[in-house]
Amino acid sequence: MVFHSLKMPGLKSALGINQGIVQLTHQYGMPSGTSMGTYNTTAASITCLRCRREETFVVDLYFGNTAMMVTVPLGTLYPFCIGKPPENGGPPASDRSVGMGYTECPHCSKDFFCSAVIHHGILVSIEPDRTQLPLIPDSESPGRTNCPECRSPVTQQQYFHGFDHSKLICQACGVVRSIRIEGNT
Ligand SMILES: [Zn+2]
Ligand SMILES: [Zn+2]
Repeated sequence: MVFHSLKMPGLKSALGINQGIVQLTHQYGMPSGTSMGTYNTTAASITCLRCRREETFVVDLYFGNTAMMVTVPLGTLYPFCIGKPPENGGPPASDRSVGMGYTECPHCSKDFFCSAVIHHGILVSIEPDRTQLPLIPDSESPGRTNCPECRSPVTQQQYFHGFDHSKLICQACGVVRSIRIEGNT
């Protein structure tokens, strides 16, 4: 549990990517102003985006009512804060919605984000999300471009197996950008 709370600053900066090039696909998840340290969990059999192995993953779910930190099996009702707006843990406004999940592979120990699909209040499935870059890189190198914000040349580039974008991190102003890897499949 302590290990997970250590990931939170990284998770925050990962969300910063969504304001950049990669689109925010989640309707709910990680509401600002609420505690970042709580989440629910579920177990799902999915194929790792990093090593492509199918495993049973424990997925952390950062939306809805996370105060009790419960395990929510697939196919059961998901907890929401009744009477609150969706961004503060309340129930979704539509019959079908998607919340944010995050997981680490039990085989390769690398991470990726997931979409948790809620249908009529029930957690129906977990789908790996390739649109958000993970937090744990496979490799790192000095950045190949200056910071797009402050023009500082002191940048770091992170690469993730299975993703067609790299992450450019400015060491001066802290901006994080997702950059398409050219000529790479
Ligand atoms: Zn893996
Ligand atoms: Zn910068």
